[in-house]
Amino acid sequence: MIVGLTGGIGSGKTTVLNFFKAFQNISVYIADEEAKNLMNSSPLLKSQLINAFGKELFVDNTLQRAYLSNLVFKDPKKLQILNEIVHPQVAKHFSEFVALNAHKAYILYENAILFETQNNQFCDCILTVSAPLEDRISRIIHRDQTTRRAVLDRMQHQFPEEKKRLQSNYLIQNTSLPALKEEVYRIHNILTL
Ligand code: ADP
Repeated sequence: MIVGLTGGIGSGKTTVLNFFKAFQNISVYIADEEAKNLMNSSPLLKSQLINAFGKELFVDNTLQRAYLSNLVFKDPKKLQILNEIVHPQVAKHFSEFVALNAHKAYILYENAILFETQNNQFCDCILTVSAPLEDRISRIIHRDQTTRRAVLDRMQHQFPEEKKRLQSNYLIQNTSLPALKEEVYRIHNILTL
């Protein structure tokens, strides 16, 4: 079973994911991290990326993520090219991971842009983390040492929360950390009944 975990920036996805990591009988796949690992390790991906975006993308054999983000952030065409290069490789890697972990109670698949990338279609069940907008903004300003303007800019590139909510099976309300942890344990218990 594949359980999707998503939510807007600052909703508390990573916090929820970290609570789930305590469970030994599940496997966790973090889409963004795996994509980054693949971009750094796959010779095929590397050469395709350099062809598309230039050799400045790698310094000392390491992907310059901030540089890449800046390149594609305000250029939908470049973002599309990036997705066309990276997504098939990540999809292949994920399906191999699913096969290898089929014996687990479930696979928790974390993807901040699960719906935006249409990866919701691979999930049996989807959990969306939700928090009040002002809490999300202030937590991100604090976490990333950034400005309100920059946070709002990043939020604009994601689907609005109500659209995610409509397509989710369950909404995890992120109020307090103890309540959030309790909720994660409750969900895990139900998923493994
Ligand atoms: P996301 O992964 O969805 O962007 P995070 O899990 O990183 O969000 O949470 C954003 C920030 O807010 C982090 O610094 C996290 O520690 C903090 N945070 C998350 N949930 C709470 C909460 N309930 N109370 C206080 N701080 C929180």
